[in-house]
Parts: sequence; C-alpha cells; structure tokens
Amino acid sequence: MRYISTRGKAPALSFSDVLLTGLAEDGGLYLPETWPSFSLSEWQAMRGLPYPELAARIMTPFVGEDITPDTLRSLCEKAYAGFDHPAIVPLTQVEDGLFVQELFHGPTLAFKDMAMQLLGQLFEHVLAERNSHVTIVGATSGDTGSAAIEACRGRDRLSVVILHPKDRTSEVQRRQMTTVLEPNVTNLAIEGTFDDCQDLVKSLFADMPFRKEMHLSAVNSINWARIAAQIPYYVYAALNFGAPEQEVSFAVPTGNFGNILAAWAARKMGLPVRHLCVGSNRNDILTRFLNANDMTMKSVMPSLSPSMDIQVSSNFERLLFELLGRDAEACARIMTSFRATGHMDVPAEAWETAHALFSGLALDDAATEAEIKGLHDRSGYLADPHSAIGIAAGRRFRESGVPMVAMATAHPAKFPDAMVAATGIRPALPAHLADLYSREERYRTVPATADAVKDAVRAAVLSNA
Ligand SMILES: *Cc1c(COP(=O)(O)O)cnc(C)c1O
Repeated sequence: MRYISTRGKAPALSFSDVLLTGLAEDGGLYLPETWPSFSLSEWQAMRGLPYPELAARIMTPFVGEDITPDTLRSLCEKAYAGFDHPAIVPLTQVEDGLFVQELFHGPTLAFKDMAMQLLGQLFEHVLAERNSHVTIVGATSGDTGSAAIEACRGRDRLSVVILHPKDRTSEVQRRQMTTVLEPNVTNLAIEGTFDDCQDLVKSLFADMPFRKEMHLSAVNSINWARIAAQIPYYVYAALNFGAPEQEVSFAVPTGNFGNILAAWAARKMGLPVRHLCVGSNRNDILTRFLNANDMTMKSVMPSLSPSMDIQVSSNFERLLFELLGRDAEACARIMTSFRATGHMDVPAEAWETAHALFSGLALDDAATEAEIKGLHDRSGYLADPHSAIGIAAGRRFRESGVPMVAMATAHPAKFPDAMVAATGIRPALPAHLADLYSREERYRTVPATADAVKDAVRAAVLSNA
C-alpha cells in the first residue's frame, strides 16, 4: 500500500514512512492510493472477534507489506491491554434507536487513546527495525498531549516533548501530563497561549537543520496512522448492530474532523453506513459548511467542550480531496486560497455530495448543559460535554430502522466542573487515576520563544541519550 498527498506534489510513501513523516512535504495530507474494501463474507467473518484482533484485520491492508499480520496482531493486543473495560469500546443504549459507544476506557480517559496507544506500539516497532530514534514534539490544549505522553512513556526509541500553555489547561489535563516522570517525557509550560505553543512547534519543524539533528516527528491528528487506527471501532459497532446486512448511522462530536473521517473511511471500505452526523459547539464552522456551504473562519471561542474549540478542521482536507474526485491541483488551490482569504470555495457539486451524507448540529454551552442534564434525568447516563453534543446530534438525525450510534469521546470525570453545573454530580476518577491530585508533578516553565524551546528540546534529548 502506497500513500499519496492531497496536494499532489510530495513523493508517494509506504505506511511506515507516512507514520514517521506526518504532514506531507507539499503541505498536504497523506491518503491511501486506493481504498481497500472487504466483501460481504469478509465482514461477516469479523463478527464477534475480540477488539484487538478486529483492529488488526482492519489495519492489515493499510499497513501493507511493512508489518507482518502476526506482528500487527500482537501490537494491537499490547495497545489495548491497558484499557479498563473488557469490550474496549462498549456500546450502551440510551434511548429508542440511540446508542452510545464509549471510546474513553484508555489510560487518559479520552478517545485519543484509541489511536495513540497503537501509534506508540507502531513507532517502537518501526524504529527498532530501523535502529533509529525520534523526538516527538507537540503542542496541546489538553487531550492530545496526555494521550501522546501515555503512549510514549518509558519507550527507549522515543523522546516526547509536549508544550502546553502555562495555567491554561484544566488541572486534570495538566496533571495527566506532568505527573508522568519517566526520563523520556518532557513537559514544557509555555508562558503564552495555545496558539503560541502551536506556532512554536511549527517553527521548530520549519528549522530543517534542527529538525534533522533532533529527528523530530509529530503525532498530531493529521498523521494518517491515527485515522486508520480509528476505523475499527466503527466496524465493531456496525457489526454489533447487524452489518453488513443492516445499515447504521454515526454521530460524532467533531473538532479536527479526524474521528468522523475514520467513519467515512469505514463506509468507503464497504461498511453500510447510512448517515454521518457532525456535532459542534459554538465553534460551528463545519455545521455552517454542511448546512449552507459556508466554510468561513471565525476566531475561536472557548466552550465547555475545549477539545472541539477549533477554527479550521485540518482533516477536512482529506474529505475535500475525495469530494473533488481526487483532483490534487484543485485541492491545493482551494486550500491555499482558504488560508489567504479565510473562506473556502467548495464547488456546488462537491458540497452536494457531502450534504447528502453528512449533517451538522451545533450546540452552545447552554444547550450542551441542558443536554447533559436532560439525558441524565431521562436515562441515568452521564455524558461529558463533548459526548453530550454527539448524542444530541444523533437524536436530531435518527431515522427509524437504522440504529444511530453516538461516539462518547471523554469520561465525564475529565470535566468535573461542567458535570457539577449540569447535574450536581461530581463523577469520580477511575481507580488508576484516583490519586492524580496528590502525585508529584514535573515540568519546566519556558518563555514563548523558539530559541528557549529549542534549548529545552535539545537538553531533553541529550539527557535521554
Ligand atoms: C479530540 C477530541 C474531539 C474531537 O475529535 P476530532 O478527531 O478532532 O474531530 C472530541 N472530543 C474529545 C473529548 C476529544 O479529545
């Protein structure tokens, strides 16, 4: 299997190279050259498989020749061994025809673990084969950083440096990062905002000599392997509800469009997915696009669902490329002008294709709080603010005869203040995190300048060599 860039000007790469590279050289995102698909009998044969084995089956065509099927299966088993639910991604019914799939049973209590735990295994395996080492550098406003740290902690061939805006993440989120004390983990508290952190990471990657010297690598949500690792849970849910003979629909609380893109990919591979519903908070660029072909950037506003506070959904470019019939030149042109003008000109025909499959619903904070409370009153189910938005979108677009599965992307204990405000209940942290508030923290405070961050990265890598 080879991967091509959505902008058409970067070399085609294998799975392992795409894993280590992340963003394509031409600024585009990698996609498989052709979409693998499964036949009716192949889908049927996957029913009832334990989750790690199902994940390995789905990933096999994407990995191609790079990793043997046996090794891939053992990496999947190790990736999901630490999850605290035997089903890994359990399904619960909350209303007539409306189900929740919980993706938060991994170590950091958010769905990022689903992909990141497997990425940690894949990185370690590929780097051992190449006898190489990389330094993962990333910026986080919360969930991504802790998931990356958990996936990389204690691994010999990986150093991980995560920048977070000092005093601007929630205490749970900060402690999930800063209480990891393995020597290959470095937390930098940047004296600035999340945008400053992102700009600093970009400037490190743009400095080619530094990037080569430190073997920098990224695990942000544009990494193709993360999308691939998110496809299996959609398959798991659909098979549970009678696929391939029965259709299902999905509702997904969406930020960077990575999670829902995996659902779209599952459909592309032949899974009978009827409808895809995007849930947004007041940062509603995707809902505006889906309802009225209005993809216009606005400034980011804080909300109760911070992991969806985005201005631009970076993975949308992958869908755009497909909507344009894989015309890389048109895709590059539209993306460049979007960056320049803040408005994306999607041709009417492409928009109609998206509109036929996707729907969008946006909830402001008051509506999110009402959804958390209403759902809890009626069904007893406690959904965090992100998950509640997905559930509301699922209810809005549910059709009779087609099970609607809403993705629950975070454990409610990750957002205790929002839960108390909506329901009066403070959800307890799971046992493995029960002492989080009393653990020792370690991080370095660093000014928001590229030189200071480069020095800190260099020191981290040297001390870990
Ligand atoms: C990252 C995240 C999202 C958004 O997922 P995307 O793949 O960026 O669309 C939603 N909810 C939670 C809890 C998250 O951590």
